[in-house]
Parts: sequence; structure tokens; C-alpha cells
Amino acid sequence: MVYKYELHTHTAEISRCSSISAKDLVRFYKSKGYTGLCITDHFFNGNTSVPRDLPWEERVELFYSGYELAYEEGKKQGFDVFFGWEWTFRGTDILTYGLGKEWLLAHPEVWELSINDYCDLARESGAFLVHAHPFREAAYIDMIRLFPRKVDGVEVLNAMRNDFENERANEYADNYGLLKVAASDNHVGRIKRYCGIKTAKRVRDMREMAELIRRGEVELFTEYEDAE
Ligand SMILES: [Zn+2]
Ligand SMILES: [Zn+2]
Repeated sequence: MVYKYELHTHTAEISRCSSISAKDLVRFYKSKGYTGLCITDHFFNGNTSVPRDLPWEERVELFYSGYELAYEEGKKQGFDVFFGWEWTFRGTDILTYGLGKEWLLAHPEVWELSINDYCDLARESGAFLVHAHPFREAAYIDMIRLFPRKVDGVEVLNAMRNDFENERANEYADNYGLLKVAASDNHVGRIKRYCGIKTAKRVRDMREMAELIRRGEVELFTEYEDAE
């Protein structure tokens, strides 16, 4: 038995750039035979719809509601939904896995920290950090920023990035002995190709997933949408 997971998704409820609802994300991946996914909406320093002027608790609750909608649908569908987020500094994106809402509530400083301090704090708290598409080039990104001692892993296959950028990410992971992750960065549902993780057992949460990745007990995959 093989279990397929998507570790990088955005809900339309919380990520401004997403056009697929939390519920539809779950239905979509369920229909493609996946076992689960992780919601990684843009955090408060990124492209979020959560207003900045709300009290911290309300901001966190609102942010968490995208995941909750997905989770509720997942429960109905027998589909696992995990919580994470994508923390951002000027186009440098850190997928944060393994921490929950309580941690966010207890750390209102978290969205304004420097990227180094953020990584240290999150990892001390048990997070598994993955640098998303580290070699992405775009007009709004002023530089490629790498900090190999501050993250656990690297997205070496991102379905939204081109082969050149993914190959550079793969070399980077090799050069520094960083863990490798594959994901789709899905903002829409149906896309040309999907990158993800296969495991031989069903995981309970992202901590368990991180453990399998650390032990090398996962397979990275790319699947193409059938041509019409
Ligand atoms: Zn986005
Ligand atoms: Zn993303």
C-alpha cells in the first residue's frame, strides 16, 4: 500500500492568491487518490486575507479557520488534513510544519521576527522547516536568500517552478545535506503536474511525516495531469 500526500496548498479563504476553497481542495485531492494534504496558507507577513488590525487572538483564529474548513471536509471524506503555514520574508518562503494554533497564540511576535530568529524559535519549538522553491526568480524578489543552517529541508520539486529552478534546489540540498521535499504549491486545484510525497504507511500528523522524511522513508514523485 502506498499513501500519497500533498504538503503545500493554499485556501481561497485565507490566501489572497488562491482561487480554490478549503473544501474543494480536499475534494480535489481525495478524487486524485491522495491520503492527505497539509494546508500552508500565506502567513501574516505574506499574501493573506486576514486583516492586520485585529487583535492577535482573532487573527490566529481567522487564519486557522481555513485549515478547519479543510479538516471538517476531510473528516467526512476519510481524508487527512494537516496544519502548517508559509512564513515569508521578501519572497523567501519558509513552510512551517508540526506546530499548532496554540503555539501561534502564544507567540504574537512571530510574524515580525527576523527570518533567522523565526527559524530558530520555530525549530526550538519542534517545527520542521522547509525552504519553499529556494531558487525562484521573479520581478518582486530582490535576491535569492539561502540559510542552510536554519532549515531542515528544501523543496527540490515544486510543481509551479521550472526544471532549472528545481534542479538548483536539488543541488543545494545535496551540497548541504538538507532533507528533500516535493510539493505542488497548489492555489487552484487542477494543474499540469503534481509533486508530492509517497509513504509506505499512513501518518497521523506532520511530526510523523517529518520523522519519515528524516529517516529517508519517503519517495518524492511527480505526476502529470492526463492530456485531454
Ligand atoms: Zn500564493
Ligand atoms: Zn505557497
